[in-house]
Amino acid sequence: MQSMRGLRPTIRAGALALWTHNLKNIDVLDYERPYYFGKALRFSAGIQLSEAYQAAHDQGLVVMGGTRPTVGLAGGYTQGTGHGLSVSKLRFSANQALEWEVVTVDGDILVATPEENIDLFWALSGGGGGTYGIVLSLTIKAYPDQRTAAANLTWTNEDISQETYYAMIQRYIAALPKLLDAGGTSIWLNSNDFFQMSPAVAMAYYSADFPTYLVNPVFRDASASLVVGTSDQAQNLASKELMTETLVPILSELIPGVGYAYLNEGDPWEPNWQQVFYGDSYWRLLEIKEKFDPDRVLYGRTSVGSEAWTEAPDGRLCQS
Ligand SMILES: Cc1cc2nc3c(=O)[nH]c(=O)nc-3n(C[C@H](O)[C@H](O)[C@H](O)COP(=O)(O)OP(=O)(O)OC[C@H]3O[C@@H](n4cnc5c(N)ncnc54)[C@H](O)[C@@H]3O)c2cc1C
Repeated sequence: MQSMRGLRPTIRAGALALWTHNLKNIDVLDYERPYYFGKALRFSAGIQLSEAYQAAHDQGLVVMGGTRPTVGLAGGYTQGTGHGLSVSKLRFSANQALEWEVVTVDGDILVATPEENIDLFWALSGGGGGTYGIVLSLTIKAYPDQRTAAANLTWTNEDISQETYYAMIQRYIAALPKLLDAGGTSIWLNSNDFFQMSPAVAMAYYSADFPTYLVNPVFRDASASLVVGTSDQAQNLASKELMTETLVPILSELIPGVGYAYLNEGDPWEPNWQQVFYGDSYWRLLEIKEKFDPDRVLYGRTSVGSEAWTEAPDGRLCQS
């Protein structure tokens, strides 16, 4: 593994981390398999969203991805499900997966598709990054490029009552189902004095029949994913307890059961993370983890199987 071009191992707090940033291959494919017939792009693990979008655009194509240019397409983003501005039309990024090329902890190179290593394919397509193996590349569906309409909208509470300000946000949220039903998507943020929708988008219609499988099906039926935070990271850390113990539980009460949160944007200190991030799929994912990484070599605080370890105050891992 260490001799592979582009992979740079580093030691931190007694651990080994792999740097995949320099794996930058992109292949354009005419993909012909029983489960998909059409254009596809294969991205090495170091490809970031801006590079993926540009490569697709250069071929007159478009691929599903998230909103920020630096996020890795084949890394935690797609392995953790992946939403973005085309989600109402194209579904999630994990639904675009055709092939994962993976190095297992034993050093074997496997290809996981809907027909081969099916369990690994399913787990990688939404079951969380850094858990089942090291992804070398991801092949996803690509679609003909098309015109997309986008709109921004901003208002503040200046010169209006706070009541009116909140009433406007309420009206906006009440109108969202119409936008979603029409295949649109919107990203918005609001504070106590500032609302910004940036943007709402609408795409032309694709007639393709998109798969709707998801590791956690609750997310498939959700109309919104809410993120609570502050813009000042230092303040965010100081507010950690407030988030975990007060704010997130209040939001969770809006959802039946223990609640559900998107694992890629959830609270890393969420106490019920197995159920909240993975839902009823957790036990099946744990079996797959056991099969491909029985010694739990790959670790993340809220990754499947990580309850086998406890973090010591100095950052080292001890067996639970
Ligand atoms: C600025 C910003 C914008 C975002 N926007 C969106 C968005 O629009 N939509 C959305 O769904 N999410 C979004 N996210 C959340 C994002 O999906 C997660 O942060 C995700 O974990 C990022 O994956 P990464 O590989 O880039 O990050 P990393 O921190 O490098 O990795 C995250 C996890 O994946 C693992 N991993 C990374 N590469 C590999 C690999 N090659 N093989 C195996 N495991 C790997 C890591 O070990 C780690 O556990 C955003 C995050 C940020 C910071």
